[in-house]
Amino acid sequence: MRDELACKEIVLQKTRAIMPDVIQDLKGLIRFPSVAFPGYPKEPVLAMADATVTLLRRYGLPDARLIEVPGGYPVVYGEIPPPPGKPTILMYAHYDVQPAQKEDGWKTDPWEPLEKGRRLYGRGTADDKSGIVMIAASIRLFGGKPPVGIKVVIEGEEETTSHLEHFTAAHPDLFLCDVFIIADNGNLSVGEPALTVSLRGEVSCIINIRTLDHAVHSGMFGGAAPDALIALIKILATLHDIRGDVAVKGLRSATSENGGYPVENYRAGAGVLDGVDLIGTGPLGDRLWFKPSITVIGIDAPSIQKSANILIPGAAAKISMRIAPNADAGHELQILMDHLYAAVPWNVHIDVKEVGHSTGFTCPTGGPAYMTARKALEMVFGNPVLEKGTGGSIPLVNVLHETVPHAEFILWGAEDTADSCVHGTNESVDMGDLERIIAAQGFFLMLLGNL
Ligand SMILES: [Zn+2]
Repeated sequence: MRDELACKEIVLQKTRAIMPDVIQDLKGLIRFPSVAFPGYPKEPVLAMADATVTLLRRYGLPDARLIEVPGGYPVVYGEIPPPPGKPTILMYAHYDVQPAQKEDGWKTDPWEPLEKGRRLYGRGTADDKSGIVMIAASIRLFGGKPPVGIKVVIEGEEETTSHLEHFTAAHPDLFLCDVFIIADNGNLSVGEPALTVSLRGEVSCIINIRTLDHAVHSGMFGGAAPDALIALIKILATLHDIRGDVAVKGLRSATSENGGYPVENYRAGAGVLDGVDLIGTGPLGDRLWFKPSITVIGIDAPSIQKSANILIPGAAAKISMRIAPNADAGHELQILMDHLYAAVPWNVHIDVKEVGHSTGFTCPTGGPAYMTARKALEMVFGNPVLEKGTGGSIPLVNVLHETVPHAEFILWGAEDTADSCVHGTNESVDMGDLERIIAAQGFFLMLLGNL
């Protein structure tokens, strides 16, 4: 124990010493608008991939390189073989980011990093360029000679349709390891360490409604012929009950003891306006992490500007449903689609097409690496560790689990739920939490080397 305390102190000191560099380098990465969505320019994404390789090499991973992924952006890969008898840890992050434009409500240019107090603002500061520097810095703490084997996988398509899942299945050897670290998560609030132990899955579909063969005068025909948009709205309105719980029968729903998520934190993080009710029932953590939730993410219908006094002949909506971590995505999607067909009013024509489905993930928490990660987090942060779920999905995690079934998973990072605004405007990272999670990851590697 005394040895461990001494080790921790050394890691903390070394981390503190490199933090100015780390923040400088993170700022450099923020300046690449590495949006990998279709229709966005490729050059910044490729430049970001190159910059990631350069950073890793500079921080002690000389083997860092790009590997082409068929149909997609290259993956940044590198490895350091383990000392004899020591485990190999594969560290994952992603270098692509969500789109961002000043007009969306950013207070400053999203691609120009800005320090304000303890936080660094800019697209990708948290999700997931903090994960990249976290990985690089934890390698640098050991001067390029970590006490365990290291593999690094930093993908370029986490936020869009990823081609890495097929690639992983085709090259399992690259991913063989004893422990996966998924550095694309974080704490609920700054200074309070958390491990993520479950991820919800996601399914999505597009519903298309047709009622008339062409648009007609709403004065001459309105009153008997059904309007497609009204029919669509009636169907969508059946998805939730009066309290806002999902009303689709038969969906899987899980609960846990750690549903405790402070409501005020949540309201502030989500930007819920004063007086607006939260929807659904049960502990907040359950609603966000373990139960299904349904969102209508787009509607095709005439805009107000193009509206005319007509009965609308066709309308469509895209529906996204988050599903319980332990639910089968294909099965849940079928239940949702059956519900939509059954909710059709007036025998209007309906067509529902799948867009995609991915199953969630439940992290086994009893293994030696998991217990060691808990210890490292608790000792470095000086606070008890919270186990939490996350409402979002990381589809690759399931593929990794299938590829290397014996490996343990550690999901953590510097993205705090309360203030990071991941995917939203004015995204930011707390530089104190970034320092602490780098130290915790370094300490974790050190402890694993001594197991
Ligand atoms: Zn992410």
